[in-house]
Amino acid sequence: MPELPEVETTLRGITPHIDQQTIAKVIVRQPRLRWPISTEMPQDLLGQTIISLTRRAKYLLLTTHAGTLAIHLGMSGTLRILTQHQAPGKHDHVDLIFAHGKILRFMDPRRFGAFLWIKDNPEQHPLLHHLGVEPLHKDFSAKYLWNKTRGKSITIKSLLMDSKIVVGIGNIYAAEALFMARIHPTTPANSLTIKRLANLVIAIKQILRHAIKKGGTTLKDFTDSNGKPGYFATQLKVYGRDGLPCVICRARLHLVKIGQRSTVYCKRCQR
Ligand SMILES: [Zn+2]
Repeated sequence: MPELPEVETTLRGITPHIDQQTIAKVIVRQPRLRWPISTEMPQDLLGQTIISLTRRAKYLLLTTHAGTLAIHLGMSGTLRILTQHQAPGKHDHVDLIFAHGKILRFMDPRRFGAFLWIKDNPEQHPLLHHLGVEPLHKDFSAKYLWNKTRGKSITIKSLLMDSKIVVGIGNIYAAEALFMARIHPTTPANSLTIKRLANLVIAIKQILRHAIKKGGTTLKDFTDSNGKPGYFATQLKVYGRDGLPCVICRARLHLVKIGQRSTVYCKRCQR
């Protein structure tokens, strides 16, 4: 599943190709994604120029004067840029064709992705309205996490994955950050000191930045590629390594289920 670094890498990959470019045609081959694509969208987007490309949580926001196209990659979605026509594959559901000839193509075998056409302020949209802070923004700080964890006895792992508190920290990056910060994943959130929360915030930012950088370096050119920019290129230290030796102490890593999600951790290094 594309996590925040992959979405950010996608944003950086497509931006130079379509920023300030005008949409000449929209082809929707399959409107039934996670939510049906609005029937108004193709018509409304016609002749519109992309005036900005940004990201909020795992939504890519393509802003025009007529409204904002919010794209979510879901479980298996990818976006890529074509520089010339290529016959669409079975899972190529949407094309945005630009006046300068380039095509933004959305592929999604599992169809959990979304193309939402938002005419009002996207920040007020029900899907975006309740989102917490961005993990790479300065607002995501030890003090913020301290305030959010007071009176919360849920595990720190579950708290990190709550998008109302902080967005875009999925299972993989939560496990990796807790390992880097030496925090046991089942620790009650309210029992952590500000010092340990500060370490956790640093770990989260460092891991996400590293993954984005990796995505950027493995991504030589976003055009005509398979649209998979460095997915999980980051070297994972605990995620998916159940039963293997800890990279620090060599003890065997353990798996624990927290809220239906598997988490791998080191009993010796994480307390
Ligand atoms: Zn260890």
